[in-house]
Amino acid sequence: MVTFTGRQARLEYEDARPNELCDVAQGFFQYPRDARAAASYLLNESEAGRDTYFGVHLYRTNESRRRTNTMPVVSALWLDEDGGCYPDHLPEPTATVWSSADRRHRYWQLAQQVSVEWTCSMNRRIAEAAGGDTGKAGLSSVLRPPGTLNYKRHPQIDPVTLELHDVAPHHPAVFDEALPASLEPEPEPDPTPTRRHYSGRDIGIEEFLVAAGVEIRNPEPDDLGQKFSIVCPWAHQHTGGNWTGTFAGKRHDGGMWFHCHHAHCTGRGWREFRRAVLPFYNTFKVSLPGYTGNMEVKVSRG
Ligand SMILES: [Zn+2]
Repeated sequence: MVTFTGRQARLEYEDARPNELCDVAQGFFQYPRDARAAASYLLNESEAGRDTYFGVHLYRTNESRRRTNTMPVVSALWLDEDGGCYPDHLPEPTATVWSSADRRHRYWQLAQQVSVEWTCSMNRRIAEAAGGDTGKAGLSSVLRPPGTLNYKRHPQIDPVTLELHDVAPHHPAVFDEALPASLEPEPEPDPTPTRRHYSGRDIGIEEFLVAAGVEIRNPEPDDLGQKFSIVCPWAHQHTGGNWTGTFAGKRHDGGMWFHCHHAHCTGRGWREFRRAVLPFYNTFKVSLPGYTGNMEVKVSRG
């Protein structure tokens, strides 16, 4: 795990920007073995008048805080609410860290591990829904640990406090269904263009599934739009070959989604699903039973 500490630069230099840090130090601790040592170190640094942070996810090695050094899975979501406010009707956080009397960080413990890609995408949706800091949704973010002191508004010193909520770990699917789709395009993880978009006629989820040859098991009730239980394209990887627990749908806002509850499908969202079931086309025309006319869907190749 990474620690990051520094001193408010304006305590040293008059022309420093607000919350600019100087004399910064980055540390690496083996987690979970040295978690207590990391906590002691941060508490000592804090008492010594320094602002303290920890990396919100783990890294593979102690070489860098770069995205490429990130562990591939995490088991929590996070939000820096900043000036915003996370809406009450969305899944309740597991923990709230008050970084000052009116600023909060929220965390959601997940019932299973998820990919960092899915996590960052969901963090972003959460931040947009809350009016929070989308910049903290991604990898390499650091946040303040509870029990330390916040010197940002020195001479006012704000204690960073922890509030634990009595809520069970959340299943990742809950967030996919509860959070509106992201307003902004997600940052591309690699430089080759991989975004695909439909042009022309808006396609329904049922039409898509039929066109892609995905077996629909049942329509499911869903307040947020259309939802079907389907046979997972990766069902052969499921433990015991279980064919239940996989869903796809389309929200009222038009966003398509896929979710499979099986561990082997962790992190597989709509993008992965669409690639798996319709991998090789640029343009295709389909005729569907009960559908009059030809539907043309254009997808830019990634
Ligand atoms: Zn699956």
